[in-house]
Amino acid sequence: METERRVLVVEDERTIAEAVAARLRAEGFTVEVAGDGPAAVEAARRTQPDAVVLDVMLPGFDGLEVCRRLQNERPVPILMLTARDDETDLLVGLAVGADDYMVKPFSMRELAARVHALLRRAAKVAVVPAGPPTLRVGDLEINQGERRVVRAGVEAHLTPTEFDLLVHLAAHPRTVLPRERLLADVWGWADASGTRTVDSHIKGLRRKLGADLIRTVHGVGYALEVER
Ligand code: CA
Repeated sequence: METERRVLVVEDERTIAEAVAARLRAEGFTVEVAGDGPAAVEAARRTQPDAVVLDVMLPGFDGLEVCRRLQNERPVPILMLTARDDETDLLVGLAVGADDYMVKPFSMRELAARVHALLRRAAKVAVVPAGPPTLRVGDLEINQGERRVVRAGVEAHLTPTEFDLLVHLAAHPRTVLPRERLLADVWGWADASGTRTVDSHIKGLRRKLGADLIRTVHGVGYALEVER
């Protein structure tokens, strides 16, 4: 078990970068800061961080491109920071492999809680052996050992978070799961503001697996709906 955990903070606004770095160091993390896209990719290669806090708006190339490149090289949990509550940015960010996001301005307490949650999840995925190797619900087939998903014979490429969310829904088909419970079970933290993180990942699953797969129960949550 590693004792020293490394977090890479990528943000060009120095006051924010320094405040985030100071808070994470106070939490016991070793923190490296990068101020633009190319520096972020270089720092990630050099320091092999356990998690990345990544601003979207960066000089060089943006946070979405950083996310894409990091996930291609070595999957790492990523918390994305966005300036606006812009749904397009968020969906693209989640699609390229970010696990969670926060909209500025955010509290340092919450940021620290989210980074801890990301690392807990990553540790769980690494340590816990898969349950039933393959989960079949209707035309959906989820191979937990290989973390692969096929619907009606077509493979879908999910991010690690999308995969975990789908497994939770598929474990209780046709059952409405409250957003707060999904947030607690999949992301490891619960906070009313976080339920939009769940909504955004549901959109990603529908885009990749078909809009009919997951039913929205307004004001409550989501249910996996597969025929047969
Ligand atoms: Ca920025």
